[in-house]
Amino acid sequence: MKLRKVTAASAVVVALAVTATACGGNNSNSGSGGGSGKIKIGIKFDQPGLGLKQPDGSYAGFDVDVATYVAKQLGYKPSDIQWVETKSADRENALQRGDVKFIAATYSITDKRKAKVDFAGPYLLAHQDLLLKKDSKIAKGTDLNGKNLCSVTGSTSAQNIHDTIAPHSNLKELSSYSECIASLQSGAVDAVTTDDSILAGYAAQDKYKGQFKLAGLKLSNENYGIGVKKGDSATLDKINKALEKMVSDGSWKAAVEKNFGPANYKNEPAPKIGQIVK
Ligand code: GLU
Repeated sequence: MKLRKVTAASAVVVALAVTATACGGNNSNSGSGGGSGKIKIGIKFDQPGLGLKQPDGSYAGFDVDVATYVAKQLGYKPSDIQWVETKSADRENALQRGDVKFIAATYSITDKRKAKVDFAGPYLLAHQDLLLKKDSKIAKGTDLNGKNLCSVTGSTSAQNIHDTIAPHSNLKELSSYSECIASLQSGAVDAVTTDDSILAGYAAQDKYKGQFKLAGLKLSNENYGIGVKKGDSATLDKINKALEKMVSDGSWKAAVEKNFGPANYKNEPAPKIGQIVK
């Protein structure tokens, strides 16, 4: 960031810090947020519109844009960011181990997760829904009982099916939603369930166009937060300020339009920081 202004002596320090990072020992050289190092951020790699690793190796989606904006406020350029895949079941562990500084990965704030990690935000309100084959007769949550269903291990979506929505469905739990979508296409399952924000992104992909429909049921409230290591209140406060700024300067709206527009996903208005919709 400010490399051009540094003195020769501090340039050596910067060079050493960069070398240390390159050796891979340490990802926590971000204490000052001063931008001399790299930052590791957890996202999803296979969720179009939210967190997607593209064929050219670049990353795109609403979570990617939110994370990039937040990282900038913490003092990191886009080129300082190292994206790390954090699947649904791995998120708490990744934060507890210190694999990543923060996670922006369709990560709902829940009391159970709050026992292990802290959350900034929320920055998006989504709702659990069903993705169905175009000609499906399934019309409500209880229609799922006795049906084959797919969701992801460690997600609130899978938990909600077991707890309340359809405890008597045959729920298959895989490690990512893209695997569930493949099962829906092949006919191995009758529905995929997770957040409407995620399902809309898959449904709009060229390869699936015209094949699927969303049920539009709003089966839950999913308040997306940015996960940080428990007790890292310095990072948490900075992220909350960054999220507030992202909304007030119009960047949040621009990111919504850019990433959800193509999927025709009608998102909820920007949430207030600290306000969870139960
Ligand atoms: N937002 C839900 C969750 O955090 C479902 C999406 C996901 O698995 O990332 O569990």
